[in-house]
Amino acid sequence: MYLFKRTADLIDFVQAKKRAGLRIGFTPTMGALHQGHTSLIQQSVQETDITVCSIFINPTQFNEETDFELYPYTPANDIELLAQEQTSVLYMPTKEEIYPPDFDFDFTLDFGHLDQVLEGQFRPGHFKGVAQVVKRLLEIVQPDLLYMGQKDFQQVAIIRHLIQVLGLPVQLQMCPIIRDTDGLALSSRNTRLDPKFRALAPVIYKTLMRAKEQWGKGEAKSLTAWGSEQLEEGGLKPEYFEIIDGYTLLPALPETNFVVACVAAWAGDVRLIDNMVLKLSPQKEVLRQS
Ligand code: AMP
Repeated sequence: MYLFKRTADLIDFVQAKKRAGLRIGFTPTMGALHQGHTSLIQQSVQETDITVCSIFINPTQFNEETDFELYPYTPANDIELLAQEQTSVLYMPTKEEIYPPDFDFDFTLDFGHLDQVLEGQFRPGHFKGVAQVVKRLLEIVQPDLLYMGQKDFQQVAIIRHLIQVLGLPVQLQMCPIIRDTDGLALSSRNTRLDPKFRALAPVIYKTLMRAKEQWGKGEAKSLTAWGSEQLEEGGLKPEYFEIIDGYTLLPALPETNFVVACVAAWAGDVRLIDNMVLKLSPQKEVLRQS
C-alpha cells in the first residue's frame, strides 16, 4: 500500500493509473477505521482496479468544537487495517493540502430542503462542510466509483445531488450498514460511549426493527412519536425519529415506495445516528447504486 501525504504525489500516481486504463475506487473517511469502513474498501477492491482511501478529519463539517477535538485518531491501527484489505493507496493530507490559501470557502450549492431536514435541523453548516471536502477530494482523486455508507443516509443524498449538479463523472455506490452483534451500527464515535450507554445504545436498532414490522399497519406520524418514546424509555435522548421518503427525504406517505426511518439520539454525551429501510418496492439496486 502506498501512503501519500502530498496531494501532488497522489495526483501523479492516480493519473498514471488512469492513463493505463485502470478504474479507480475511492472511499473518503475521517479515520478511526472499523469494519463499516473496511466493508466499503472491500467493495471497492472487488469492483475496481485501484482502491484509494483518504483519512482526513475535516474541521469544516464539525459544528461543535468539542466533537472535533474529541474525534478519535488512530493512524497506526488504520494503516494496518487498510493494508490487510489490499487498499492500493492511503491518502492522508494535511489541512493545508485540502484547504490551500486560495480555497473558496464561500462555495455553496443549493441543496433545496436536502440539507435542511433531519441532521440539517440540528447540525447547522454540517453539510456545507461535507460538500466542500468531498468536492475537493473528488477533484483531487478523480475516481470512477465513490463508495459511501448508508449509515450516513442523508450525506449520500447530499453527495448524489452534488455529483448531479456539478456533472461529475463518478458513480456513487451506497454500501449497507455494518452493525455490532447487538445491532448497534459501527461508528468511530462508539469508542467514546461509556459502558452504561454502550449497553443502552442497541435500543436504536431494536426500535428501527420494530418500526419496520409496524410500517404500513398504522400512521407514519404515530410511528414517529412512538419511536422517540422508545428511545427515551431506553435511556437515550432522541433528537429525531423520522420516517421519510428515501428519494426526497420528505415525510413518507402511505403510498411511498422507498421508506426509510432515520434516527439521531444522544447516548450520554455521544450523538449517534442510524437508519433502516422500512420498505423498498419495487426492489431496485438503489441500496447499492445511486
Ligand atoms: P466517517 O469516517 O465516519 O466519515 O465514515 C466514512 C464512510 O464510512 C462514510 O461513507 C460512512 O457512511 C461509512 N460508514 C461509517 N460507518 C459505517 C457502518 N457502520 N457501515 C457502513 N458504512 C459506514
